[in-house]
Amino acid sequence: MNLYSYYGIAMNYSQLNEYEKSAEYIEKALVYADTDMIFEIWSLQLGALVLPEIGEVDKAVLYRERIDQIINQNPSIEEAFWVNMNLEIDAKIAFAQGKYQEAYQLLYDYHIAKTRSLMNATSNDVQTLQTNFEASMQIERIQREANLEKQSLQFQQMILIIFAISIILMLVILVLIMQRRAAQKLRESKQIAEDANQSKTEFLANMSHEIRTPLNAVIGYAEALEMGVGADDKEKRNESLKIIADSGRKLNNLISDILDLSKMEAGKIEFNLEPVCPHHIFSKNIPIIKPLAKQKNISFTVNEECKKKVLVDKNRLDQIILNFITNAIKYNKDNGSFEFGCVETNNHHMRIYVKDSGIGIPQDKEKLLFTAFDRVDPSSITSTGIGLGLFICKKLTGSMGGKIGYKTELGTGTTFWVEFPIVEEN
Ligand code: ADP
Repeated sequence: MNLYSYYGIAMNYSQLNEYEKSAEYIEKALVYADTDMIFEIWSLQLGALVLPEIGEVDKAVLYRERIDQIINQNPSIEEAFWVNMNLEIDAKIAFAQGKYQEAYQLLYDYHIAKTRSLMNATSNDVQTLQTNFEASMQIERIQREANLEKQSLQFQQMILIIFAISIILMLVILVLIMQRRAAQKLRESKQIAEDANQSKTEFLANMSHEIRTPLNAVIGYAEALEMGVGADDKEKRNESLKIIADSGRKLNNLISDILDLSKMEAGKIEFNLEPVCPHHIFSKNIPIIKPLAKQKNISFTVNEECKKKVLVDKNRLDQIILNFITNAIKYNKDNGSFEFGCVETNNHHMRIYVKDSGIGIPQDKEKLLFTAFDRVDPSSITSTGIGLGLFICKKLTGSMGGKIGYKTELGTGTTFWVEFPIVEEN
């Protein structure tokens, strides 16, 4: 056994109010007092508290004095630590000695001191609690902020992922669209190439028909004349000569068209612009128009609403008007009609038109009208032509600063027109 064991047993007995036993073990503990100064003080205090209970006041006083002695000899010992207990001891001794007034005062001081130290301890605890609370709040706040930051980081990551996915999707869609377009373009190019090939075949077939027909007529009638057919029939001979002349003119027109086209493509057509009266051009062409119209018994009228002049190349306007009129006859019904006329437009231009009562143009074929070598109805054997007339008209009109257009109704007729600025003459 040692100091601590004896002290512990003494403490137990004192709590069981067995003061004699407690005092006995205190005495045993104090045998080892020099091993631990603090425990010596505690043992002395316990003894000083217990001894008055069993009437051993003197011994309690001795213990109490010994406590003061130890504290005085050891300045390192914090006296305040023992003060409360000592007050209690002093009160008990005073009580046991019959000094009730003093005992009462000491007990009072003891309780005050105890309460104060309790309050100090409590306030320390409260302070510690507050510090802990603030610390925990701080930690909580930091955690909350960290959580928020984590969430916002996750949100940013999500946005980034969505953004990246959208970009990838857009790229994929773009690639698909581009592939589709490329395929579409390829199909279109193939179609264009096929159309061009078809046009070329039709053009060659047409050309050979257009050239051969008048050429055969020229050769056939010339050979007949050479062989003396109709030598004594002047009328027949004149008719043959007329056919030869007409066929020659047709060939000439055809070659002129082709030459015009190649000149246009080389940009070599020259225009001699001057004030021209379209009615004058029309009248001048009547000898050519009449026999053509007669072939299909087509009648024509002239609208003379505007007889002003326009600034154009005379020969080129002539070419355009004649082309409109030959088409108005070619693509007309038998016994049909056409009207030639000029009207002034709102913007001080003159519209020169040829309006026929012909077959009209189907809507889906309209886009072919002004392209070279394209005929709306290439299979048509009733009409001659190689699909160059309107294309040349459009080019010539544009080059002279004019506009070209048409209006058509299937089965009812078509109006082709050109517009040029009117020239005021003094
Ligand atoms: P071509 O008469 O030599 O074929 P054009 O360029 O003059 O060439 O005409 C192109 C096509 O437009 C013609 O083949 C014809 O189908 C159509 N066309 C032109 N004028 C008329 C018209 N007045 N009425 C109906 N169709 C027309």
